[in-house]
Amino acid sequence: MPPDEPLILEVAIPSPLYRSFDYRAPPVHGDIRPAAGMRVLVPFGRRQLVGVILATRRHSSVPGSKIKNALSVLDTEPVLGANLMELLNWAARYYQHPIGEVITAALPVLLRKAGSRGGADRRVWKLTDAGRARSADEPGRAARQALVLAQLAAHPEGLPRSALPVPLAVLRALHQKGWVSCGEPLATASSGASANRAPPALDLSHAQQQAVAAVSDCFGSFQAFLLEGVTGSGKTEVYLRLIDPLLAQQRQVLVLVPEIGLTPQLVSRFRKRFATEIAVLHSGLNDSQRLQAWEAAARGRAQLILGTRSAIFTPLLRPGLIIVDEEHDASLKQQEGFRYSARDLAVWRAQRLGIPVLLGSATPSLESLYNVHQGRYRHLQLPERAGQALVPRLRLLDLRGQPMRDLLSEPLVVAMDRHLQHGGQVLLFLNRRGFSPVLLCHACGWVAECKRCDARMTLHQRHAELRCHHCGSQRPVDRFCPSCGSSELVGIGEGTERIEQALRERFPAHPVLRIDRDTTRRKGELEAALAEARSGQARILLGTQMLAKGHHFPAVTLVAVLDADQGLFSVDFRASERLAQLIIQVAGRAGRADKPGEVLIQTHHPEHPLLQLLVERGYPAFAEAALEERREALLPPYASMALLRAEATRADYPRDFLLAARQLAEPLVQASLQLWGPVAAPMERRAGRYRAQLMFQATDRMALQQLLRKLVPLLESEKQARRVRWSIDVDPVDLT
Ligand code: ADP
Ligand code: ZN
Ligand code: ZN
Repeated sequence: MPPDEPLILEVAIPSPLYRSFDYRAPPVHGDIRPAAGMRVLVPFGRRQLVGVILATRRHSSVPGSKIKNALSVLDTEPVLGANLMELLNWAARYYQHPIGEVITAALPVLLRKAGSRGGADRRVWKLTDAGRARSADEPGRAARQALVLAQLAAHPEGLPRSALPVPLAVLRALHQKGWVSCGEPLATASSGASANRAPPALDLSHAQQQAVAAVSDCFGSFQAFLLEGVTGSGKTEVYLRLIDPLLAQQRQVLVLVPEIGLTPQLVSRFRKRFATEIAVLHSGLNDSQRLQAWEAAARGRAQLILGTRSAIFTPLLRPGLIIVDEEHDASLKQQEGFRYSARDLAVWRAQRLGIPVLLGSATPSLESLYNVHQGRYRHLQLPERAGQALVPRLRLLDLRGQPMRDLLSEPLVVAMDRHLQHGGQVLLFLNRRGFSPVLLCHACGWVAECKRCDARMTLHQRHAELRCHHCGSQRPVDRFCPSCGSSELVGIGEGTERIEQALRERFPAHPVLRIDRDTTRRKGELEAALAEARSGQARILLGTQMLAKGHHFPAVTLVAVLDADQGLFSVDFRASERLAQLIIQVAGRAGRADKPGEVLIQTHHPEHPLLQLLVERGYPAFAEAALEERREALLPPYASMALLRAEATRADYPRDFLLAARQLAEPLVQASLQLWGPVAAPMERRAGRYRAQLMFQATDRMALQQLLRKLVPLLESEKQARRVRWSIDVDPVDLT
């Protein structure tokens, strides 16, 4: 290449613009060549930003005079390898999200800054006592030294080389002065020894054996599996048996879970079984811990990588298998910003990598069951509980005409008494926190509403507060009705706080433990509460869906769903699927060991076909019926959906924008595609903003993709767009 014709870098920049930017490559140092996946520092407006090179080219379509020079290439090797870049490019296109933001989302925070990555160097730099004194009283003789001292002062746990944006010479100088030290990080995971601990002497059931054999047969090639088995049927044991031989072959296994709360349990089971380094990626890590875990995965040092949805973007050196646990869970879909489904990306990534992917659940999503029907996924079933444990019996409790206080019907109280007397533990489920969802004036009918949302305030009695569960605003409880002045303000309806109080009165001899977002807000509180629940000390457990997910409570013999009607009549077509999943998940907490479980479901609609089917014939029968309904209504998974949302502080702006969007879209619409709206969101005003949406529905996924691809650039330049915040949600899981 002639020296007067520098390379053109196509760069993804963290900005909400749907495009990449061309820069001229900076002068090359040594033999390092800029390449896709490397970070680069570039001028952008008046700022300098860290971007990622998407591609390098000889020519740009941008006139030469308009192309700026990149300032420096920050890496000597790609931080995002070819596989990962391919995944991110695809995800940006499929989810219609700006590439720069997609790539930024995949990078650990410390790599979004201009530090160098520092190769395989795991050591961290820390302030010494002398350095701490300096950093306090002597800022900046040498600016770069001062910067390092300030950064290290803010990170007492130490920072890796890659987080410090200065040449090594600066660090050496500080080291010579005795102000900083460099050493091994505190161990965040057991390291090294590859020998796995002996598996327990536990004979796999026939179904487990078949599942393990089916997946093992596909090691080294792509195949998606759906592992369906009730709670306690031994799914996790299947995971462990699959991981074992892969680790022996030096392969890596990526395990995704929907919630961070579920990781400790799984990690402890992994640690008991495997003596390998485990990288756990979750939101509780600080930036340097996260970078270390990321590096450990990228370098192949960590063989087991466990994390919540964003862990799908973890680089892997020698991938062997991806597991998505609780694949039905809505938390696997990111609901804001870059709205991706970690489960669907897992399948895509596995396909590109040529490795199997295993989706596990007691209550598979209708999407995955549909993919089984289509022959895309293979269905593995564990029909029974492992060992001797019995599957609990489900029974509907007809609430109509029952004497009842605080959602505790007589038959339920009788059953609770019976189980408690026999030493069983009782778990009550109610998906509504707070004392009561409505505060009503008995004199005039006034109801406390949120000032910023179209929603009622929830009464939190212990804190004497009204809180909005949609925008988080709160205020002291009114003592007098603002409308008529009466003091007769009463809480209507039941939340967990009220039930807790009722339980303490009804069952004074039995300790009650409430687990919901209000009782577990602070760090460590959830773990402590779960430990207390498992210890059996608390006899009555009461909680929201936090309690329903994945946790094992071996002594629970009675589970009650206090109010199943909540999910029966909703505008969201997925509500019934969610309700069924939730009921079965909660039911799965009962009778795991030798104690048979009993599950009671309170409802005013015992004749509801969904509940009937679920109780009498189980989740698989329910799912078949629900799929049939979706097929008839042409709803997902029988159609593809996308939602264009807009919001603004004025109600007419989002509607006007979406009307304009509709007009832009209409000429692009093919026969297989329908537009619905614009309509106001089910809760139009939230946090002071008015929200509306336009829905796209297509029987042909490709047609929808093509339309969106053409529409997005038009939306970007649409005048009305400047007055709203808009976003596209492809395959939305939440329609509100
Ligand atoms: P799941 O992940 O489906 O909830 P687990 O794998 O956690 O199920 O298994 C539930 C319990 O049964 C665990 O205590 C596990 O050790 C035990 N278990 C699993 N498989 C077997 C088996 N084949 N024989 C005996 N016990 C088993
Ligand atoms: Zn009043
Ligand atoms: Zn609100």
